[in-house]
Amino acid sequence: MPAASKIDLMVLGAGAAGMICAAEAGKRGLSVTILDHARAPGEKIRISGGGRCNFTNLHCSPENFLSENPRFAISALKSFTQHDFIERVKAHGIAYHEKTLGQLFCDNSARDIIEMLTDDMRAAGVRLELSTEIFEVGHRDTHFEIRTSNGVWHAERLVVATGGKSIPKMGATGLGYDIARQFGHSVTETRAGLVPFTWASHMAESWKSLSGVSVDVKAGCSGASFREAMLLTHRGLSGPAMLQISSYWRDGERLQIDLAPDTDVTAILKQARSDRPKASPWSVLADVLPRRLTQKLEQELASGAKRLADMGNSAIEDLAQRLHGFGVVPGGTEGYRTAEVTLGGVDTTELNQKTMESRLVPGLHFIGEVVDVTGHLGGHNFQWAWSSGVAAGRFV
Ligand SMILES: Cc1cc2nc3c(=O)[nH]c(=O)nc-3n(C[C@H](O)[C@H](O)[C@H](O)COP(=O)(O)OP(=O)(O)OC[C@H]3O[C@@H](n4cnc5c(N)ncnc54)[C@H](O)[C@@H]3O)c2cc1C
Repeated sequence: MPAASKIDLMVLGAGAAGMICAAEAGKRGLSVTILDHARAPGEKIRISGGGRCNFTNLHCSPENFLSENPRFAISALKSFTQHDFIERVKAHGIAYHEKTLGQLFCDNSARDIIEMLTDDMRAAGVRLELSTEIFEVGHRDTHFEIRTSNGVWHAERLVVATGGKSIPKMGATGLGYDIARQFGHSVTETRAGLVPFTWASHMAESWKSLSGVSVDVKAGCSGASFREAMLLTHRGLSGPAMLQISSYWRDGERLQIDLAPDTDVTAILKQARSDRPKASPWSVLADVLPRRLTQKLEQELASGAKRLADMGNSAIEDLAQRLHGFGVVPGGTEGYRTAEVTLGGVDTTELNQKTMESRLVPGLHFIGEVVDVTGHLGGHNFQWAWSSGVAAGRFV
C-alpha cells in the first residue's frame, strides 16, 4: 500500500459546488484535491438547462429556497451573489442571455461553465482525480483519512459536495448523507423535488390522450403557488408550474390548478350568453383554453346545459369556479429517476451558516445539494451550489 498523500483539503464530488469551492480554496494557497467517481467533472452541469445550463437567476433571493431552517441560506447567498457569479461568467467571455423570469442561460453550451470551473481549478493548482471510488472516510487525530480506489489521502479539512440522490444514472448516490450520519449529523427527510407528477390510476387511461397539451396555469398546494406553464404528458403532469409545485407536494395532497389565471371566465361566458345564446359554453372556452383540453373538460365537468342561454348566472359562476380551481390528486411523482433535485439533506442547525462547517466536527464542511437547502426552478439550485461552495472555499 503506497504512503498516504498529505494535503490541506479534500473535496468529495466534482460537481458545481465542489469545483467552485476547490478553486476558491486553491487560490488561497491550500493544497487541494477533488475526487469524483464519474469519468468527467460537472456531469449535471452538462445536462442542465437542456444543455445550456441555467446557471443563475437575476432575481435570486432567500425566498427562492426551501429548508427546515429558511434563514440558513441568507448569509452565503449574500456573500457570493448571482451578480458575483455573473461577473465570473463575463470575465471568462461566456456569452449568455436571459430566457424568462430572470433565468440566465449560456448562449452556446453548458460545457462553457464546466470549462470555466476546471480552468479556475487548474489555475489554483487543484488536483482533480476522476473515476475514483471512495471506500471509506475516517477521522484520525488531526486529519481526515480518505481511502479510495486511487490511493489514500490524509487531509486536514474535508468538504463533502457529493450532491443529492436525483438521477442515479448520472452518478448520484447517497454518500454525502452517509458521511454526515457517520460523523453524528442529522439528515432531514429526503425526497424528490422539481419532478413531474404521475397520473392516479383512475385518470391515466383517459388523460394520457392529452399528451403534448400545454397551458398557462397557476398551480398551488400547501400554501405555495406558481404561475407558469403546465404540460400534460402520457405519464402525468409536467412543465415548470408542476415541477415547482412538486417541491411542496406530499403524497395524497390535492393540487389546486387555476386553468385560466388572469382571465375572468364568468364575465366571458356572460358576455357570450348575450352575444351568442345558442353557443355551447365549451365552444366559447375553446378560445380561452387549448381545444383538446376543452373537449376533455367538457366530458369531466359536463354541467348538463348544452347552450349558454340555458345557463343561469349561478351555473356560469359554478363552471368558472371549477376552471379556476381544478383539483387533481396525482398518483405520485416520477421520483429520483427524473427529479432535478433532492429536497432535505444535512440538517442546517448543525452547520455554520457562514462557512458551512460542521458544528460537531471541526474541519468538516457540507456544501451544495447535500445540505437541506433546495431552490426553486430557474437557476436557484446552481446559485446555492456557487454561494455555499464559495462560502466554504473562503474559510476552509
Ligand atoms: C436534468 C437536470 C437539470 C438541471 N438543470 C438545472 C438548471 O438549469 N439550473 C439549476 O440551477 N439547477 C439545475 N439542476 C439542479 C443542479 O444540477 C443541482 O442542484 C446541482 O448540480 C447541485 O450541485 P452539487 O455540486 O451539490 O451536486 P452535483 O452537481 O450533483 O455534484 C455531485 C458530484 O458528486 C459526485 N458523487 C456523488 N456520489 C459519489 C460517490 N459515491 N463517489 C464519488 N463521487 C460521487 C457526482 O458524480 C457529482 O459529480 C438540474 C438537475 C438535473 C438533474
